[in-house]
Amino acid sequence: MLDSLKKIFNSEDEKMVSNTGKPDISREKSAELYEKAQTFFPGGVNSPVRAFRSVYGTPLFIEKGDGCFIWDADGNQFIDFCCSWGPLILGHNNPKIREKVGEVMQRGMSFGAPTALENELAELILKNNKLIEKIRFVSSGTEAVMSAIRLARGYTKRDKILKFEGCYHGHVDSLLVKAGSGLVTFGETSSAGVPKSFAEETIVVPLNDRNAIEEAFRQFPDQIAAIIIEGVPANNGLLIQDKEFVQFLREITSSNGALLIFDEVITGFRLGFEGAAKHYDIKPDIITYGKILGGGMPVGAYGASASIMGNISPEGPVYQAGTLSGNPVAMAAGIAQISEVLRSGFYKDLNRKAEEFAESIQRFASARNYKFKVFNVGSIFWFAFTDKDIRKAEDIDPSSMEKFKVLHRELLNRGIYLGPSGYEVGFVSAAHTKTELEKAKRAIFEALDIVFRSTGKTPSEDR
Ligand SMILES: *Cc1c(COP(=O)(O)O)cnc(C)c1O
Repeated sequence: MLDSLKKIFNSEDEKMVSNTGKPDISREKSAELYEKAQTFFPGGVNSPVRAFRSVYGTPLFIEKGDGCFIWDADGNQFIDFCCSWGPLILGHNNPKIREKVGEVMQRGMSFGAPTALENELAELILKNNKLIEKIRFVSSGTEAVMSAIRLARGYTKRDKILKFEGCYHGHVDSLLVKAGSGLVTFGETSSAGVPKSFAEETIVVPLNDRNAIEEAFRQFPDQIAAIIIEGVPANNGLLIQDKEFVQFLREITSSNGALLIFDEVITGFRLGFEGAAKHYDIKPDIITYGKILGGGMPVGAYGASASIMGNISPEGPVYQAGTLSGNPVAMAAGIAQISEVLRSGFYKDLNRKAEEFAESIQRFASARNYKFKVFNVGSIFWFAFTDKDIRKAEDIDPSSMEKFKVLHRELLNRGIYLGPSGYEVGFVSAAHTKTELEKAKRAIFEALDIVFRSTGKTPSEDR
């Protein structure tokens, strides 16, 4: 056995025997690949949460996906609720996307010159999204947000950005900032390598807290370029905000000459075609997209009114560019996926299916008095070991993540794949059929019973 495997399987915490006393599914091939990957990549991965640091065992190396299923290197099959962290709203290996990408690839993969495909995707979006008039394609969500921030600063000629604790906007330097002490403070960097002076341009406040925002505008009059918020915060649990709070953000930015940026990298084309903005009936000034927009290929975008977008180069003074921006293959995947979600009834069917799924898991847990909540909006769900109504980051009890670890392992053992962290949300795709959702539910019920049994307390003691 490889040394790393011994380490993994011999340590008390990572033993191969699940909480039911039965052996875990085999991860031998994945573990070997992970061992090798560690010689190539920091932590063995190309994006940190993939490393399974918050759950048991080694990361699963995925070999293929089809519909709502994925298969790992050991041949285990899973119903996948991670869906590549959101992009795969049609499920894996969708034939329409595959065909369109295949067709476009026959003609070359990148030109660094405009193509009709960019027009085609832009037209599909702008015709059906009344919130933005012009759009710019980039290659990731991070890039979209980074550009939107620069645009807001260039347009308002102000430097400060207000963000919320518990919102993630990609690995943009000025947004890798967490709350300091005090109600309204400059943030502290949440990553090494971000200059303190950057963090000083970022104000971090709790979600759902009007006073903090009013105070920020009092303390920094005419300095705040924009408030940025996730359409529905979905990267640190699912922190569903009231419509009134979001409306308040719209009003206070407008009355202070600041812009409102909706980061809809997750929620765009997810909650509905017009995302969270439509869901809340709000018109943000700038909206960022990513994930679903690319149909599984690397695509991001930001959009706004024609007058705000007129500030972007070459039309205006805010510089932003990309060698592979609007890449034909990525545009092809986007066109195929966006055409599908535009079909009538798409979101109604998907959201209803996801809501039923979430509700029946909640009913099961409530009937057993488990301290467990399923948060749900559209086809996004989040499992939380709590009995509270969680609306901001600080409401999440970090110790509850121990239960998530057990849940995650028991679900893998039952053929259900969730993102490997209790802070991550899950996604239902159009490819999840009723039959598979029923199967998944039964597995989740069993796993929940084990979680609450294995903590050594009866459900009522646990409350
Ligand atoms: C995923 C995500 C990002 C970052 O997108 P990447 O493509 O990973 O760079 C930014 N904002 C939100 C809200 C996201 O969910």
